Amino acid sequence: MKFKIILFLFLSFFQLSMSIAQKSFHKNKVIAHRGAWKANGNPQNSIASLKEAVALGCEGSEFDVWMTADGILVVNHDADFMGMPIETTNYEQLLTKKHENGEKLATVEEYLAAGKKQKGTKLIFEIKPSKISVERSKEVAEKSVLAVKKMKAQKWVDYITFSYEGGLKVIATDPKANVAYLSGDKSPSELKEAGFFGFDYNIAVLKKNPQWIQEAKDLGLTVNAWTVNKEEDMRWLLEMGTDFITTDEPELLLSIINN
Ligand code: MG
Repeated sequence: MKFKIILFLFLSFFQLSMSIAQKSFHKNKVIAHRGAWKANGNPQNSIASLKEAVALGCEGSEFDVWMTADGILVVNHDADFMGMPIETTNYEQLLTKKHENGEKLATVEEYLAAGKKQKGTKLIFEIKPSKISVERSKEVAEKSVLAVKKMKAQKWVDYITFSYEGGLKVIATDPKANVAYLSGDKSPSELKEAGFFGFDYNIAVLKKNPQWIQEAKDLGLTVNAWTVNKEEDMRWLLEMGTDFITTDEPELLLSIINN
């Protein structure tokens, strides 16, 4: 009996502390695109740019993930790192070059470990479509979910991807994962049907199809837009009531939202 009470108290406390952690993420719509790098000269997708997005208090910090020839997930925007094509180069070889600030090319595990040191900024994990094959895109998607689970980072991570098949693979591997689709060629109802959490479309796509914003809301999907660097576009999306705005200018967007 005593044991049961103690167990009950422990579980209640555990649930309470988990819900506090979950509620502590910032709610300001600002997603720093490749981290916060532009205003301060950090390399894109570096741990320094992630830390800057966290310091600014962004709701999310976005980063891009590729898989090396020998199967290591690494964080970089371009298909190449310092002239070396990531998908056909081994990880050890990629370590021979560094970011301009001296950081090494981060593995996904290292990046997630850095992101988990705080609880205000979500980690917006972009799975890059493989240039080699759709099969490889699906492999990257599955490995990404397994890496997030291994790092116990599910609460921090929302996924985005241009690869529809990759997105479906994430949903199949972790049905609770939040996955938004980037390519702009699916209607909100198609995404809802397939189990996506929302869309993250180019602002030009949303200007052409503004009705998709309300349709998404009605379906319970989230709306995000990239890459929104002009003040007038930021204001338009805020008026339309989008959930997130992805920008290279998080400082500008934060100042608009806070004033
Ligand atoms: Mg990206």
